Amino acid sequence: MAQAPIFMIEDVDTATQHAATAIAEMAMRDISPTPGNFCVWYNYLAGATPELKKELEALLGQGGVISSSQMQALFDKYFGEKTGEEAIQETGDELQITLLDVIKQVTQAGLDAREFGKTLNQASGSLGADRIDPAAMRGLVGELIAATKLIGQRNQALEAQLQASSSKISGLQSRLEEARRDALTDGLTGIGNRKSFDLALQLRTQQARIQNGDLALMLMDIDHFKNFNDQFGHRVGDQVLKIVGSKLKQAMKSIDTAARYGGEEFAMLMPQTRLKQALERADSLRVNLGSHYLKNRATGQSYGTVTISIGVARYRSDEPPENFVNRADQALYRAKKEGRNRVMAEGD
Ligand code: GH3
Ligand code: MG
Ligand code: MG
Repeated sequence: MAQAPIFMIEDVDTATQHAATAIAEMAMRDISPTPGNFCVWYNYLAGATPELKKELEALLGQGGVISSSQMQALFDKYFGEKTGEEAIQETGDELQITLLDVIKQVTQAGLDAREFGKTLNQASGSLGADRIDPAAMRGLVGELIAATKLIGQRNQALEAQLQASSSKISGLQSRLEEARRDALTDGLTGIGNRKSFDLALQLRTQQARIQNGDLALMLMDIDHFKNFNDQFGHRVGDQVLKIVGSKLKQAMKSIDTAARYGGEEFAMLMPQTRLKQALERADSLRVNLGSHYLKNRATGQSYGTVTISIGVARYRSDEPPENFVNRADQALYRAKKEGRNRVMAEGD
C-alpha cells in the first residue's frame, strides 16, 4: 500500500495544535507518547490519511482501550513500508532459500531412487540363482512390493513439494517485479522517477548510437512554482505536480520515457523522434497544460493556471549522454530567460 505522509507541511500554529492535542489525547487513553504512536495520532488529527483516520475512529468507537499492539499495527501498516531495496533484498533471500529447498528435495529423490535401484538389483540377482525356494520367493516379492510402495509415496511427496515450491517461486517472482516497479516509480505522480530516467537514458542513447536512430529529449520546469506554493500551500502544489505527471502520461508514446526529473522538473525521452516533431509535441504539451484551469473541486477555490517552460535537444550519436541532457537543460534555461511559458530548442 502507499505510504502515509510522515512529513506534512502545515503552518506552525496548526502543527503545534495537532501536536499538543495528540499528546493530551494519548495521555488520556494511556497510550505511551512514543515517536511511532505520536506519528499515528498526529496523522489522524491532521486527517492526512483518510484510511488511517477511519481505522483509528473505528477503534475509538468501540470504546475500549487501544492497546500498544494495535497502535503498533497501525504504524506498521501506514508508515512501516519497506524500502524498495529492502523488499528486493528480502525477496531475493527468500528465493534463494526456496531454491536450496528444491535442490535438497531433488537430491533426496535421487538418493531414494538409487536405493530403490539397489533393491531391484539385489532382487534380480537372487532371481538369477539356480534354485529359489517358495519361501525366499515370497520374501523377495514382499520386499519388492514394500520398496516400490515406498518410492511411489516418496515420489508423490516430492511432486507435491515441488508443486508448492513452484507456486512459491511464482509468488516471489511477482513480488520482485512489483518491488522493481516501485523502485523506478515516483510516488507522488506515478510516472518514472529520476532513476528510471537515468536507466532509460543509458539504454536509449546506446540504441540510437548503434542504430544511428533519432532520439529527442524534453526537459521541463514549472514556471514560478515557488510563488504558487507560497500562495496556495505545498499540498496544492503537490496536486499540480500530479496534474503535470498525468498530462505527461497522456502525451507520451509507448516507446517514450516520462519521468519526474527533480522536485518540479520533468523529462520526456523520445526515441525515433526528430527535433522538429519533438518541438511540436513539447509545444502542444505546454499549451495543453497552460489552458488547464485549476480549481479546488470541494471548495470551488480557483488557483488559476500554471505554465511550463521546456528545453528540447536531439542526441548526437558520438556524444556522452550528459552532453545531450546539458543541451536540453541550456535550452530550458533560455526558455526561462526569454520570459517562460515557451519551448526552446538547442541552439536557438
Ligand atoms: P522558475 O520559473 O524560475 O522555475 O521559478 P520557480 O519558482 O519554479 O523555481 P525555483 O527553482 O526557484 O523553485 C522551485 C520550487 O519548486 C521550490 C519548491 O518549493 C518547489 N518544489 C520542489 N519540489 C516540490 C514538491 O515536491 N512539492 C511542491 N509542492 N513543491 C515543490
Ligand atoms: Mg526548478
Ligand atoms: Mg520552476
